[in-house]
Amino acid sequence: MMEKEEMHNDVFSNALKQLDKAQAVRKWDEKELNLIKQHKLILSAKLKIKLDNGKTKKFYAYRIQHNNARGPTKGGIRYHPNVTQQEIKALSFWMSLKCAVTGIPYGGAKGGIQVTPQELSQAELERLSRAFIEAFHKYIGPDKDIPAPDVYTDGKIMAWMLDEYEKIYQGHYPAMITGKPLELGGSLGRDIATAQGGIYVLHDALKSFKMQNNSRVVVQGFGNAGANAARILSRMGFKIIAVSDSKGGIFNDKGLDIEQVLAHKALTKSVTGFGGAKAVSNNELLELETEILIPAALENQITKDNADKIKAKIIIELANGPITPEADDILFKKDIKVIPDILANAGGVVVSYFEWVQNREGYYWKEKLVLERLEEIMKNAFEDVFSASKKFNTDMRTAAQIVAVDKILAAEKLRGNLK
Ligand code: NAD
Repeated sequence: MMEKEEMHNDVFSNALKQLDKAQAVRKWDEKELNLIKQHKLILSAKLKIKLDNGKTKKFYAYRIQHNNARGPTKGGIRYHPNVTQQEIKALSFWMSLKCAVTGIPYGGAKGGIQVTPQELSQAELERLSRAFIEAFHKYIGPDKDIPAPDVYTDGKIMAWMLDEYEKIYQGHYPAMITGKPLELGGSLGRDIATAQGGIYVLHDALKSFKMQNNSRVVVQGFGNAGANAARILSRMGFKIIAVSDSKGGIFNDKGLDIEQVLAHKALTKSVTGFGGAKAVSNNELLELETEILIPAALENQITKDNADKIKAKIIIELANGPITPEADDILFKKDIKVIPDILANAGGVVVSYFEWVQNREGYYWKEKLVLERLEEIMKNAFEDVFSASKKFNTDMRTAAQIVAVDKILAAEKLRGNLK
């Protein structure tokens, strides 16, 4: 536990360092800055579940709400062995900024369980997911805090959580959680939303930075965000030359057939071992010759140790926090454009918002409408951040932070919380 806590301490301190950079440009007053650094509610629990062999096991779990001035808090639940309180604090803070930058009426939250889900049976995973709701249900709800999937969680887990919540509250509350299967009130388009939102932003970024769009693409992480991005971009005619997952990467400079890679992964559970491609490590993959690089796995992948070796022209952060602040400085000097996580991967929470709206209306939209509305929000958010980067003469991450924090502080002021 201690070791993991130390390892991930830096994720929240990285988040604060990013904010410091924005502060150096925007110069909020001390009260404002302190308010934005604070979390409203930090919950933790030890979830005790029965394993299939009859023994019991405990898992550390967290639900953290950062800020709710703009609306109920919103954010995914991560199942990963490296989950710590510090990591969830950083992710919940970024969720507040993400919701603000896109203008959707939410604050930010995040949850997580310190677990290796691949080691649990389906029945154990179900008991663990239900235990999470049992522990935190009082703080969750359609008007309080609305979870969603994140790393190693999916629609099936959201369904168990919904069911557990509805058993406790004796009714139907589909808007208490998003990323649900369609049969339980999920939204069309939610599965591809994070990737598609990033691609709308990429399209405008390439235009604004006057870059070509017939480029090579490297994707790290081949789950919801990464695999969907690779698939959509390859259908659009981009050449996906390398992809990876936790077991390693594959590279072919002539381009990978992404549909076949998906089929291989479905069969073998990994992209590794795919025929007609060279094996590369996750580190080598980041340093490949490419125009577009898409980190879509975990935090701290591009650091001061490898930033110098990155050859991409533009990086789209589908993952949260893949670039450390020190690496940001190096990339900026190399004129590598970074489209920051709080803008680039906000498509997921935007369509989660649409799902919540549909649940509350009890009326469901066609996928075409979902994607049209997603595109409009992502393009407006890009334009706001791009304009702020010009106005403050700064990088896109700092600009996105300024746009977001200003909106949160405006809401706090109207509530009388900043006198
Ligand atoms: P996922 O569980 O669907 O996929 C994660 C992928 O990353 C898997 O392919 C896994 O093998 C790979 N991976 C794990 N460790 C790795 C490592 N060390 N190196 C390379 N690959 C590794 O998760 P996801 O939902 O796609 O989330 C990925 C990232 O995107 C996370 O940072 C998450 O917070 C972010 N994100 C996801 C969403 C969403 O809607 N799913 C929204 C916003 C941001």
